[in-house]
Amino acid sequence: MRITETFRSIQGESRFAGWPCFFIRTTGCPLRCSWCDTAYAFTGGEERTVESLLTEAHGSGTGLIEVTGGEPFVQEELPALVRGLLDQGKTVLIETSGGFPIPEGLSREAHLIVDVKPPGSGMDHWNKPDLFRKLGPGDEIKAVVANRADFDWTIRTLDSWGLMEDVPVTVSPVFGECDPRELAAWVLASGRHVRIQIQLHKVLFDPALRGV
Ligand code: SF4
Repeated sequence: MRITETFRSIQGESRFAGWPCFFIRTTGCPLRCSWCDTAYAFTGGEERTVESLLTEAHGSGTGLIEVTGGEPFVQEELPALVRGLLDQGKTVLIETSGGFPIPEGLSREAHLIVDVKPPGSGMDHWNKPDLFRKLGPGDEIKAVVANRADFDWTIRTLDSWGLMEDVPVTVSPVFGECDPRELAAWVLASGRHVRIQIQLHKVLFDPALRGV
């Protein structure tokens, strides 16, 4: 598999936020979100075997593993990696752009964190309603919003796809661009059961650093 980095940090962007987590960041993503903070993972990286990643994850001392990107769904060996992590007894999170179907053979014991891309990302044409309809209560939908228009679009779109009742939804502000307090006010005013979260790792660590 093509891997940009592995590191141990605090999970910062899901309902697992706050827990120590071992991250495996894959290389390559065809999207170009306007606010992407991991452009360094678009190219480069190194070839790693599934076995070497499993060994490293096993030795990481954490029961929570996140495979992120880049875009993990374009990695052919993702199902094998995830199966191996689950067999180690790990809780596995996979963060994906929402632009690709669930890979064949991928265990649904892993928790999918699927981005829905509001217009402010510039990538809303990548959204795949069919993918979102395959999600369940163990998964979650994450919307990164740049402004009020993005927030309103997210609620309206997930409503129109019939998803708001079935899958947990988190909304987070674009770091340094959208005021979290304003987002909190929009959530409260909406009356919707969505969870606001900030990118906790960027509060705890230097947001300019890689591997946090
Ligand atoms: S999907 Fe993720 S990795 Fe790809 S451009 Fe968007 S934010 Fe960056």
